[in-house]
Amino acid sequence: MRMTVLASGSKGNSTVISSSRTKILVDAGLSCRELLRRMAIAGEDPATLDAILITHEHIDHVAGLAVLARRLNIPVFFTESTHRAWVRMLTPRTTMSYAKWLDHLQQEKESRAIAIISEGSAGVLNLAAGESRFNDANATLKLPVDPDSADSDTADPDIEESCDADAQQSLPPKEKANPAHLPAVEYFQAGTRFCIGDLDITPFTIPHDAADPCGFVFEAEGIRMALATDLGYMPPNVKSALKCIDVLLLESNHDLEMLRDGPYPWSVKQRVLSRVGHLSNEATAEFLQKDYDGGAAYIVLGHLSESNNVPALARISAEQAIGDRMTLLGNRIVLAHQGTPLDSICL
Ligand SMILES: [Zn+2]
Ligand SMILES: [Zn+2]
Repeated sequence: MRMTVLASGSKGNSTVISSSRTKILVDAGLSCRELLRRMAIAGEDPATLDAILITHEHIDHVAGLAVLARRLNIPVFFTESTHRAWVRMLTPRTTMSYAKWLDHLQQEKESRAIAIISEGSAGVLNLAAGESRFNDANATLKLPVDPDSADSDTADPDIEESCDADAQQSLPPKEKANPAHLPAVEYFQAGTRFCIGDLDITPFTIPHDAADPCGFVFEAEGIRMALATDLGYMPPNVKSALKCIDVLLLESNHDLEMLRDGPYPWSVKQRVLSRVGHLSNEATAEFLQKDYDGGAAYIVLGHLSESNNVPALARISAEQAIGDRMTLLGNRIVLAHQGTPLDSICL
């Protein structure tokens, strides 16, 4: 199995997880063009991606999602609530006329009915086609921003447009106008295992300020990799999900003192510190010291804040917590970056 972190932090998150037969992208939080560029640098061929899996709808996890999925023509896996939140966020409802709003409500009702019917059969949905009818080209989009960021970057619309052009050419006009159109949507539920190819995936709920945020455990070929970022604290279900993991990508977002004394407005500080915000270096260290079973070959520290953390602080904090369990073969600590892909970790 292989993990390649393409980007990690409040300006964009994306990680490739692959077995010898299956390759998926977890989150698409950079522009399509930048994701393709980073995959090229990291030696990951985008043409061999089987699917995109989304943790939650914050812009630093979905910025390039629609364009990339359309370009590669691959399905996107969400929880139903996350998908609905994502569609809502791309649907500029504030400028809707009353008639359009009624139309929208009717559309939602129909979508729910389709969802119920589909659950009984393939469980595969493509709601996007109908949603174009409440798209309004004149409206401004209001995108939910991760609480770790006072002003998160979004994908550059001009660049995205050119990246999207090829994929959009063959679509009917209604779908062309719909920013939430995807080639296919599949739903999973937190706590319920599912498979993509030979990758066995267990999603688990994480406490974060989003519709239905999830972390994941991936298993194939006897190796287990886990991804847990964007969580306000470590609840028991997350602690138990992170047992017997070989490669663990774990959040180490901020240094408490730096955040308290740092530049963010008080309201943003409160959100980051809250039970649905982000894990501090200190909280991560406490987990590593008290609850972590010590079995990973690699611990990748991720989603480091650029304003309220320093890589050296995050590293020292984790290293002290791991103590003498850190060896040449076990518990090697690696830091994921915002600006460049990390070397692939292969087990
Ligand atoms: Zn995030
Ligand atoms: Zn988030």
